[in-house]
Amino acid sequence: MADDAFDAIVVGAGPAGVSAAIAMARAGLKVVILERGEYPGAKNVQGAVLYSRMLHEIIPDFWKDPEAALERPIVEQKTCITTEDSWVTVGYRSQKFLEGVPNCYTIIRVRFDRWYAEKAAEAGAEVYAGVKVEDVVRENGGIVGIRTSEGDELRASVVIACDGVNSIVAQKAGFRKELRPAEVALGAKEVLGLPAEKIEDRFALEPGQGATMELFGSITEGMLGYVFIYTNKDSLSLGVGCKLSDYQKKGIRPSDHLERVKRHPYIKKLISGAKTLEYSAHLIPEGGFKSMPPLAADGFLTAGDAAQMVNAAYREGSNLAMTSGRLAGETVVEAKIKGDFSGATLSSYVDKLRRSYVWSDLEEVKDLEAAVERSEGFLDFYPRLANDLAYLRFSVDGRPKKEHLKQAIALVRKRGFLRVAKELWPIRKAAI
Ligand SMILES: Cc1cc2nc3c(=O)[nH]c(=O)nc-3n(C[C@H](O)[C@H](O)[C@H](O)COP(=O)(O)OP(=O)(O)OC[C@H]3O[C@@H](n4cnc5c(N)ncnc54)[C@H](O)[C@@H]3O)c2cc1C
Repeated sequence: MADDAFDAIVVGAGPAGVSAAIAMARAGLKVVILERGEYPGAKNVQGAVLYSRMLHEIIPDFWKDPEAALERPIVEQKTCITTEDSWVTVGYRSQKFLEGVPNCYTIIRVRFDRWYAEKAAEAGAEVYAGVKVEDVVRENGGIVGIRTSEGDELRASVVIACDGVNSIVAQKAGFRKELRPAEVALGAKEVLGLPAEKIEDRFALEPGQGATMELFGSITEGMLGYVFIYTNKDSLSLGVGCKLSDYQKKGIRPSDHLERVKRHPYIKKLISGAKTLEYSAHLIPEGGFKSMPPLAADGFLTAGDAAQMVNAAYREGSNLAMTSGRLAGETVVEAKIKGDFSGATLSSYVDKLRRSYVWSDLEEVKDLEAAVERSEGFLDFYPRLANDLAYLRFSVDGRPKKEHLKQAIALVRKRGFLRVAKELWPIRKAAI
């Protein structure tokens, strides 16, 4: 590793870190990315849906690159509200998702992160894998570098913490405490091998196209979270993601939960005959806007999961990581031109975030999780109600439709109309 000083040290070669490094390296700054994994992506876990727009802003038309590690462009997205033996499905399919900048792709992070980190190297950043950062180096109150687990010290005008949900760097810099179980979800995922034709048959897809599906209700066993199933080229990603504190309270292991999910009648058919290729688990920050640490200080910025930037209501994280990383990188480029890396100058990063969807979206959903948690109805009553109402709607049993309607009203009245209205009102924020 080169031992002369850098303009910027980026810790972590995930979407946030690589985006930051590309922005800076392209502007001619001397940048290094330090990644603890054996190679970028080696330890990374995501569902994984990648939203194109934010990557297109960094690598224009990336989907035309035959080397880009993309699985399938998504044409259909579905939500499924389950009981043990029934489900209501709401979904949307359209080829419009493929027009212009395609809306999103499925990816497998191990492959994608390698490709993306190569783009940073091509832009001129130095990328070192197998290097774990353990501490920051301070001088006169400001952060001037990092220390690795091997004891090496590296100096730079700015350190950008992009080291993910547990961010050691933000903790050592004194900006964050260790996360509490109520502030994180635990995601566990299996990649299940299945031939492309079978995937296309089961999900009724055109060759090469993909679908996503999230499941709520009884399938999360009374825990706040969801189950997902996404189509890759010749595999399915099946996973669970529920609050860590809920797993602890219920004494459920995510791997056992995932095994039970596989037996749910909706999932069972879709994965029949598929072979488990890999299992992985990872934390997801859930604290969002309210848990965001200070984002800028003298010689220091933080982006992506390290800064809690996940919009769980919309399963968005990697896009927020890319945008916040890019904005952090652009801020350092401006600071370099000014020759001033003070917290005051670097705080223009926060202004940039405020003007972007990142801030607005995180602020918008900041109370959503608490609202859902306040009413245990979302984990049991409402999923059952949705299924009961659907059953009534689609049953032809010889009774007049008026009686069906009366029965439907009685089902809602059981909980109280006012209560239902109050409980459902906050959910509008996750609806559009
Ligand atoms: C199960 C699951 C499903 C998800 N599904 C989706 C989805 O479908 N769509 C979506 O947009 N988001 C999803 N997310 C969220 C998404 O994965 C994250 O928001 C995103 O990866 C954040 O990017 P990041 O670069 O901030 O952090 P990460 O991707 O976590 O990258 C951090 C990097 O830092 C490295 N690192 C950590 N500590 C150190 C250290 N001390 N020294 C050096 N390197 C270090 C890590 O090895 C890693 O490479 C999901 C997450 C999980 C767990």
